[in-house]
Amino acid sequence: MNKKIIQDYTKEELAEMIKPAFRAKQIYSWVYHKYVESFDEMKNLPKEMREKLDNEFTLTPLKMLTVQDSKDGSRKYLFGLHDGHTVEVVLLLMRDKEYHEDGSVKHQERYTVCISSQVGCKVGCAFCLTAKDGFMRDLTAGEIVSQLLMIKKDNNIDANRRVNLVFMGMGEPLDNLDAVVKSVKIFSDPDGMAIATHRQTISTSGLSSKIVRLGKMELGINLAISLHAVDDELRETLMPINKAYNIKSIIDAVKEFPINSRKRVMFEYLVIKNINDDISAAKKLLSLLDGIKAKVNLIYFNPYGGTEFERPSEKDMVTFQEYLTKRGLLCTIRESKGLDISAACGQLREQEGGAAV
Ligand code: SAH
Ligand code: SF4
Repeated sequence: MNKKIIQDYTKEELAEMIKPAFRAKQIYSWVYHKYVESFDEMKNLPKEMREKLDNEFTLTPLKMLTVQDSKDGSRKYLFGLHDGHTVEVVLLLMRDKEYHEDGSVKHQERYTVCISSQVGCKVGCAFCLTAKDGFMRDLTAGEIVSQLLMIKKDNNIDANRRVNLVFMGMGEPLDNLDAVVKSVKIFSDPDGMAIATHRQTISTSGLSSKIVRLGKMELGINLAISLHAVDDELRETLMPINKAYNIKSIIDAVKEFPINSRKRVMFEYLVIKNINDDISAAKKLLSLLDGIKAKVNLIYFNPYGGTEFERPSEKDMVTFQEYLTKRGLLCTIRESKGLDISAACGQLREQEGGAAV
């Protein structure tokens, strides 16, 4: 693509590029509050400036290809990039809008948006569909930011409505650290989408050295660790990255990570039938997380065609959870949101015929 992506730039960078500098704030407002898709609509900019911007920049780096609705209100999107690759984004409805008896609004819907950071993934986890097609490329900050922008526009989500953001779609965010950090800054700009960093969560397969680097940046972001196994031997078979960064290195990195005083580090534990669902694993998990302000999220393995792994029984999930909660460790079971539209990473893209369209 020969045009630059406007969402690739922080407000400060735009102010350097476009003079006078106050124009950057105006452009931010058109892009992130009014969701315009052409420079011509930016009526408070001089006509020549609009034309110049249009020659240089695009406002629409993503194309909406498919949308699938789930019975629980989740909605899954497939977006096309300018080079033909595709990425998935999921809008999760965490709580419905509710009304008082007199018809006034009691509370608004609560949304979480699950965004992608790469096309494919290098990490190659055995249970993950995103990994199956290998790695294509990193997304730019603008391609990451635009995912949320497209979702907000398509769902008429007002600019000042709060949303939570999780980097849990396709890709390993810490393997694309610079673009991801830049997108976090753009998302949180008070003149843009103004999503506080404590509403943003980065999920990682555990690149310990990058966790340390991210921590040193003091962004105030939440961290989620995809742990999935409590001993290195099993973790290596499920997640080859464990050979480079073992469990101890992850735990050490987490212990150094600056955590918001009202928050906890989330440990995701994908439960796979007869692989990691026994009580001895729960016991080991408890001692591993001793001394960490942690919260465990048990996830049902979401099966797909061709996988050798199976979904655990509800009984085993609950037994596992109870073992932990009874001993004082906060532990939730992730609702299978969007299960009927297979909302685990990589699963819509696969149905649509792979990485590129
Ligand atoms: N690469 C990052 C973020 C994207 S994956 C990471 O691994 O943390 C987001 C989450 O989806 C991870 O916890 C991952 O383990 C989980 N996941 C992958 N395949 C899944 C499947 N088939 N069913 C359920 N969860 C899955
Ligand atoms: Fe990559 Fe995460 Fe999938 Fe592992 S689970 S292959 S790290 S996207």
